Amino acid sequence: MLADMATELEAARMLMYRDAFAKDTQDRSAVEAAMAKLYASEAAHRAADKAMQILASAGYRRGSTVERLVRDVRATEIYQGTSEVQRMVIAAGVLAQRDGA
Ligand SMILES: Cc1cc2nc3c(=O)[nH]c(=O)nc-3n(C[C@H](O)[C@H](O)[C@H](O)COP(=O)(O)OP(=O)(O)OC[C@H]3O[C@@H](n4cnc5c(N)ncnc54)[C@H](O)[C@@H]3O)c2cc1C
Repeated sequence: MLADMATELEAARMLMYRDAFAKDTQDRSAVEAAMAKLYASEAAHRAADKAMQILASAGYRRGSTVERLVRDVRATEIYQGTSEVQRMVIAAGVLAQRDGA
C-alpha cells in the first residue's frame, strides 16, 4: 500500500509539472490541468483510504489525523471542478484532438 501511495503521488506530481510546462511553453493548460487535478484528487483519496486501512482503528478514531484527511481529501474531488467535470474537459480535448482541432 505504501508503494502504491508513493507511486501515485509521483504520478500526480508529474502531471502537475506537465501542466505547468504546457502553460509556460504553449500557453495551453485546460486539458493538462484537468488531468492533473482529476488524478491528484483521486490519488489523494486512495492514499488517505489506504492510510486509514494501515492504521485501522487508530486511523478511524475521531480526532485522528487520518480521519481528518479522509474527510478533507474527499472535498478535493468536488470543489474547483468535480471529477465528472474534469473528465468532460479531458474527453472534449481528446475528441478535439481526434478531429484535428
Ligand atoms: C469543502 C467545499 C468547499 C467549497 N468551496 C467553494 C468555494 O470556495 N467557492 C465556490 O464557489 N464553491 C465552493 N464549493 C462548491 C463547489 O465548487 C461545488 O460543490 C461544485 O462545483 C459542485 O457543484 P454542486 O455542489 O452545485 O453540484 P452539482 O453541479 O449539482 O453536481 C452534482 C453532481 O453531479 C455531477 N454532474 C453535474 N453535471 C454533470 C454532467 N454533465 N455529467 C456528469 N456528472 C455531472 C457533479 O460532478 C456532481 O457529482 C465548495 C464545495 C465544497 C464541498
